[in-house]
This record gives sequence, C-alpha cells and structure tokens, in this order.
Amino acid sequence: MTAFKRKEEIYDVAISGGGVAGSTLAGLLGFQGFNVCLISGESKPEWNPDKHYPRVNAVNHASIRIFKHLGIWQDIRNKRVNPYYQMQVWESDTKGAIEFDAAELRVPHLGAIIENTVLTSSLHDFAEQQPSVSIIEKSRLESLSANDDGLGLHTDSGHEVSCRLLVGADGIDSVTRSLSSIEKREYKSGQQAIVAEVSASNYDGHTAWQVFLPNGVVALLPLNEGRCSLVWSCDESHFRTLMALNDAAFCEALTSSFEDRVGAIALGGVV
Ligand SMILES: Cc1cc2nc3c(=O)[nH]c(=O)nc-3n(C[C@H](O)[C@H](O)[C@H](O)COP(=O)(O)OP(=O)(O)OC[C@H]3O[C@@H](n4cnc5c(N)ncnc54)[C@H](O)[C@@H]3O)c2cc1C
Repeated sequence: MTAFKRKEEIYDVAISGGGVAGSTLAGLLGFQGFNVCLISGESKPEWNPDKHYPRVNAVNHASIRIFKHLGIWQDIRNKRVNPYYQMQVWESDTKGAIEFDAAELRVPHLGAIIENTVLTSSLHDFAEQQPSVSIIEKSRLESLSANDDGLGLHTDSGHEVSCRLLVGADGIDSVTRSLSSIEKREYKSGQQAIVAEVSASNYDGHTAWQVFLPNGVVALLPLNEGRCSLVWSCDESHFRTLMALNDAAFCEALTSSFEDRVGAIALGGVV
C-alpha cells in the first residue's frame, strides 16, 4: 500500500485525479485552509530538464494568474515555458485568415505552451507543502458509499477516505462520473490526431500556426530551442494514409500543408 499520512478523519474535499485540473484545485483549496485529500492515480510527477514531454498545455492569461496567485509561476518558468506572441490561422481552400498579435492587443504575450509534467510537478510540490492537503499517490478511486458525514471513498490500493465533497478530476474516462451515475453523451467524431515534436527551418519560435485543410486541422505550437509541438487532426481515412507514409513523405505532406510559411519541417529536434 502507498504511504499516506492521514491528516483528517473527514476531509472537506477529496479530489480524484492529480492532473493539471485536480492538482490546481488541491493547491487552491489547501491555500485557503480547506482540508483536502488528493487521490492521485499516478506517482508523484518528476520533471527532468533533459527530457521533452510531448503532452503539452496551451495556458492562457487567466490560468497564469492562478499560478501567480499560488506563487508557483516562477518555479514553472524556471523549468520550461514557451510564450507565444502571434497566432496565425487560415483556411487553405478560401485563404480566409485571422491573426492575433500580442503587441497589437497590448499584452505581454498571448499565452504559453507548457509541458504537462512541468505544470503537474510544480502543482504537486505546492499541494504537498500545504499543511491541510494530504496526497495519496499511485492510487485510484474504485468505489464510494454514502455515510452519515458525507461520502466514504475506497481506492484500489486499499485506502479508505471520508469526505464531505468529492470532485472528479480524473480525466476523460472519469471513474467519479460513472460511480456518481452522471450520464454522458458520446458520439463518434470520426477524427484521429497525430501528435509529435517537429522542427521547421524558418520557424520564428514564437508564433502558433493553425491551418484548416479540407480533411483536417494542423497546428504547430512553439516549444523552445526551435522545436514545435505538432497536432494534426483529420478524418480516419486520411489518418491511415498519413500513418502509412515514411518519415520523409510525412514531413513533405506537413511542409506543404503549411504552404512553406515555416520552411521545411522535420521530425524531432532542430533542423
Ligand atoms: C498527446 C496529448 C497532446 C495534447 N496536446 C495539447 C495541446 O497542445 N494543448 C492543450 O491545451 N492541451 C493538450 N492536451 C490536452 C491536455 O493535456 C489536457 O486537456 C489536460 O491535461 C487535462 O487535464 P486534467 O487534469 O483534466 O486531466 P488528466 O491530465 O487526464 O488527468 C487526470 C488524472 O486522473 C488520474 N485518474 C484517472 N482515473 C483515476 C481514478 N479512478 N482515481 C484517481 N485518479 C485517477 C489519471 O491518472 C490522471 O493523472 C493534450 C493531451 C494529450 C493526451
């Protein structure tokens, strides 16, 4: 069983899921003195500066304000943060386009692309430092039952927790949602996405690019050292075609999608 120092018999709030949403809420509530138990499905997130994590978050000014309020923005910046100052979006067919510029909008930047692990590692450190927050690592909410005080929670690692309020922040297949019989509506979008780290020969390093193609949407989000995060979403048949290409042909298709605006695109590090 994972070590867990119980701080309360009954918590004001238990949070299932220690991703960005769950760990931010745990930090914010703990900061205000609420007794919180964070049930984190994963082990403590550790950030390694030598590794690049493909899962990223586009973080806007409102979210940055929350991190500043918690006093962790500097810690996040010291790890790795990639602000973007321009955004160029267009449709390949019609050439209809829209662009945003931080200078024109009189803001320091439009937002920042930040690796998920950068955020979660700082958020977990912060939550851990709050005297009223307990964290159960590597443990998943499995079942719940109503009791006189609120809810009894049971995890797959054998922990039992009582709380007055349970928050489900446990991702796309939320166990909290299914245990609470909250209905969901699902429909097939027929879309798949390819996510990769790429670099482009004429990339300025501070513009977010997005092009709407007849069969999908391709975005390049700036990371540091000339790298960008690629998100290419498209219908399933085009996805299969793209996945069947070799690296050179894939990069050629990608380069021509961007109409050579960012130069030649290659997979991985700096070209
Ligand atoms: C490959 C990839 C690329 C992405 N790219 C971008 C991007 O470019 N820009 C952008 O803004 N966003 C991007 N996203 C999305 C972004 O990462 C998510 O929107 C965001 O991280 C969701 O945060 P969350 O805390 O809600 O959920 P998650 O990050 O999904 O966290 C949920 C947590 O709950 C835990 N959990 C699950 N079940 C249980 C349980 N029963 N008990 C306890 N814990 C449980 C999981 O282990 C997980 O740690 C990307 C996502 C992926 C996967």
